[in-house]
Amino acid sequence: MKIIDKFQNDKTVFSFEIFPPKRTSPIETIYETLEQLSDLKPDFISVTYGTGSREDKYTTCEIATIIKEKYNVDPVAHLTCISSTKEDVVEVLGELRKSGIENILALRGDINPNIPIKEDFKHASDLVEFIKKDYDFHVSGACYPETHGEATSMVEDIINLKKKVDAGATHLMSQLFFDNNAFYSFLEKARIAGINVPIEAGIMPVINKNQIERMVTMCGASLPNKFVKMMQKYDGHPQALRDAGIAYAIDQIVDLISNGVDGIHLYTMNNPYVARRITESIGSLINVD
Ligand code: FAD
Repeated sequence: MKIIDKFQNDKTVFSFEIFPPKRTSPIETIYETLEQLSDLKPDFISVTYGTGSREDKYTTCEIATIIKEKYNVDPVAHLTCISSTKEDVVEVLGELRKSGIENILALRGDINPNIPIKEDFKHASDLVEFIKKDYDFHVSGACYPETHGEATSMVEDIINLKKKVDAGATHLMSQLFFDNNAFYSFLEKARIAGINVPIEAGIMPVINKNQIERMVTMCGASLPNKFVKMMQKYDGHPQALRDAGIAYAIDQIVDLISNGVDGIHLYTMNNPYVARRITESIGSLINVD
C-alpha cells in the first residue's frame, strides 16, 4: 500500500524507523526486532540506508522486503543519492520494484569526506524528480523543524523543501526534535509556504546519555530546560533515565496528537521494548479521529 493512502482519514499515522544490522552481523539478527515491532501494528516501518555502498542498498531492499512479506507491514525503503550515479539509482529502483516495494524516502545523504560525491544528484529534490519521471513509487522526503545544518536560514531551507514537494514528494518525515514548539513554528511556516503534504513528526525516545550526545551533535536538535534537567537528574541511573526518556517521548507525542499532527515517526533505534511501552501508552489516542 502506498503511504499517502494512510493519511486519507483523520487518524494519526504512527510509524517506526529501524536501521539494518551491522555489516558484520547476519541479516537474520533483525528478525526478532521486526517480529516484536510488527506486533505493535505500526502503519509502516521505514528502513535506513547506509553510506551508499553496493551492499547497503541491497540490505535495505532485503529488509524492506522481509517487513512486507514475512511481517505483513508496509515498508518504506530509504534511498540516498549524493554518492550514486543515475545508473546506480536505476539499479536500486529496479530491485525495489521487483520486490514489490511501493514506498521510498528519497534523501540526499550526508556529505562524508570519506565517500566520493558523484555529480548526478545534488539535492534530494533531484532524486525525487528522477524517480517520479519514470516510476510509480510513492516518494517521501525529509524535513528539518530546526533547519538543516547547511542552510543559512529556515526561510532558505523551507524554500528548498518546497522544491522537493514540487518535484513529487507527497509526504514528509521530520528530523527528531525535543521541543514541540520548534516543530509547530516550522509547521506554520511550511504551510504558509504552500507545503500542504502530510508532515510526520520525528520522535526519538532517549534512553541513554551517549545516545543523546551523539544525536545532538549529528542533528543539532535543541534541548529544552525540562529535558536537560531530566538528563542531569538521572545521569548514572540507566533504568531511571530510560523510564524518564520514555515518559518524555510520550509527553511530546500526546501534545503533538492533541495539536492535530499528521503522524508520529518513531525512531525506534531497533529497541522493541521502548517502542512497545510508547505504543501501549498512546495506542488509544491515535485511534481517535
Ligand atoms: P536535501 O533535501 O537535498 O537538503 C540538503 C540541503 O540542501 C539543505 O540545506 C537544503 O536546504 C538544501 N537544498 C535542498 N534542495 C535544494 C535545492 N533544490 N537547491 C538548493 N539547495 C537545496 N541519511 C542517510 O545516509 N541514510 C538514511 O537512511 C537517512 N534517513 C533519514 C531519515 C530522516 C527522516 C531524516 C530527517 C534524515 C535522514 N538521513 C539519512 C539524513 C540525511 O541524509 C541528511 O540530513 C542530509 O544531510 C540531507 O538529506 P536531505 O534529503 O534532507 O537533503
